[in-house]
Amino acid sequence: MSKFLSKNYLGLKPYTPGEQPKDIRYIKLNTNESPFPPSKKTISFGKKALKKLNLYSDPEMRYLRDKAQEVFNIDKDEIMFTNGSDEILNFAFACYGDKGVAYPQISYGFYTVFASLYNLDKTEIPLKEDFSIDYKDYLNLNKLIVIANPNAPTGIIMPLWQIEEIVKNNDSVVVIDEAYIDFGGESAISLVKKYKNLIVTQTFSKSRSLAGARLGFGVADKELIKDLNTMRYSTNPYNVNSTTLAMGFGALEDNNYYLNNCKTIIANRDYLTKKLQELGFLVLPSKANFVFAKTDKIGGEELYLKLKSKGVLVRHFTTDSIKEYNRITIGTKKQLDILLNCIKQILGETL
Ligand code: PMP
Repeated sequence: MSKFLSKNYLGLKPYTPGEQPKDIRYIKLNTNESPFPPSKKTISFGKKALKKLNLYSDPEMRYLRDKAQEVFNIDKDEIMFTNGSDEILNFAFACYGDKGVAYPQISYGFYTVFASLYNLDKTEIPLKEDFSIDYKDYLNLNKLIVIANPNAPTGIIMPLWQIEEIVKNNDSVVVIDEAYIDFGGESAISLVKKYKNLIVTQTFSKSRSLAGARLGFGVADKELIKDLNTMRYSTNPYNVNSTTLAMGFGALEDNNYYLNNCKTIIANRDYLTKKLQELGFLVLPSKANFVFAKTDKIGGEELYLKLKSKGVLVRHFTTDSIKEYNRITIGTKKQLDILLNCIKQILGETL
């Protein structure tokens, strides 16, 4: 760090994204991307938008919000689009964290980073022994609450009635991060009209194959959306570029293509879970596009490194309580069969 860095940021530990090595062509099962490309329609909308890149993108994002209104059954004043859902999470921490923030101890790593960035008082709530979240730990906290549902990296989902209890029993903003909701979960968007303190965030990075385009959004009561827009217009009103806006529109037009891909991912998740269990793995029950698994036969880090040397990338975390696990993104059946063969070879080697 330079001697010029503001003292406010001296201790800031940034988020570490999943590795994107370019030395060989890996089978990438480490960052929960979709293995399927965007639909033809999505790409053709993006291509058309390229011709108008001399103009700024629409800061009000009118076409996309109109389309979203129809698809998500909400009012257009109840939604805001951002540069990935990381950006709306960032805005939520900035807007509502002054009385402190609470989130599960094992969850998306960015929550701790945002809490440090804004110097918030943070409460990290332990998970239950089975890695699920106890909703009772989140009642009457009256500080900003952020919960990934399904949680990451466990993949475990909390039922909607428990989310509702949390929202109902706090006089503070509750953010439900639904990055992985399209892989078998029930969205809390249906609760937005009932509660004025709920923000539901989602992303086009996972189920809609647009991780590289960076498009996320939040749905909330229009007063909350106004706050979040104040933050957006105070940092970058053109936060979503016009190619991405157009591709987001195309993706919503082609919803069925993406829903079908989600069905394939769910079937592949069941397949991988069964095969890993046959090989002696403990696999947590996942409603996401990844599974979190460990085995007594080999340590988590050793398995990760040996898979990497065979050209398959999975995600390993060094936090003590989860270091024996690996998070494996659900790819195509072909990719999963290669992964399973590599695991068989590795286990054969270590037996
Ligand atoms: N929430 C969770 C739980 C995630 O795992 C991710 C992806 N790393 C995000 C939010 C952010 O995704 P994006 O910014 O691509 O929308």
